[in-house]
Amino acid sequence: MRIYNFIGYAIIFGYAAACMYFAPPALGPWMGLSIGAAYFIACWFVGGLYLSCVIHMGIAHRALDYKEWFVKTITVVNNTFGVYINPVTWVNRHRLHHAFSDHPGDPNKLASDGWLRTLYLCLLPYQTKTNLATDDIFKSWAFRLVSNPAFAVASQVFSLWLLWLLVGDLRFAAVMWLVFRIFALWINMIQNYWTHDRRFGSRRYDDERDNAMNIGEWLPVTATFSACLQNNHHHSPGLLRLSHEESEYDLGFAAVKVMRTLGVVRATDRGSELPQGIALTTLNF
Ligand SMILES: [Zn+2]
Repeated sequence: MRIYNFIGYAIIFGYAAACMYFAPPALGPWMGLSIGAAYFIACWFVGGLYLSCVIHMGIAHRALDYKEWFVKTITVVNNTFGVYINPVTWVNRHRLHHAFSDHPGDPNKLASDGWLRTLYLCLLPYQTKTNLATDDIFKSWAFRLVSNPAFAVASQVFSLWLLWLLVGDLRFAAVMWLVFRIFALWINMIQNYWTHDRRFGSRRYDDERDNAMNIGEWLPVTATFSACLQNNHHHSPGLLRLSHEESEYDLGFAAVKVMRTLGVVRATDRGSELPQGIALTTLNF
């Protein structure tokens, strides 16, 4: 088993065991596990839709055109109740990451950075000097609210307090809240470290300009909503799907298709243009 899968499963099993161990007597271990699972799945699902499907492919790359109310709602909901990720600074860093992948100017990681350095950079990325996040939507009240530093602090306190209120036990709430955020950090490491080191994953395209790799196993693809297919994505960043073959497991694209049938998203011209030289003959969207 690859090290990234081992660590991912270890966090999940550790989380499950901690939920059972720290569940208050009034709930008991199995109810504790059920509540923990519900919290885990809700945070993962909303966070994945928010970051991978909406902010990444919808805003940062403009491959998908979401209804504005939907973008604002999921942004406020995720950042109030789930794992806080500032959408404005994230989009700026992500655009710089594509412009300078693995080279000076990439806020996420330089080619020479090891796992510990990259872990540190997940929390405190390299400083950016340019602002590429000047889209109109960032001037809306919803985005100005969530990108405010006071909101960033208050939402952390609020989401923990709310969980405490719901489960009636601070220690149990704090364990779920904290260990899920460790899982979110592992997701961040899949993106910033394991899919940007040529020792891991595979390369469909041998693009010399970056070290982007495809990691295609079930757990990382599910956890990241397919964002770990980095080699495909860096080869054609404007394409609205990250899988380049129908046989490639792509949860993120499946989620986008469901959202399309619900009427909240459509493809942009940029997102639906099939690049030359990729294995897909149709977008299937
Ligand atoms: Zn991207």
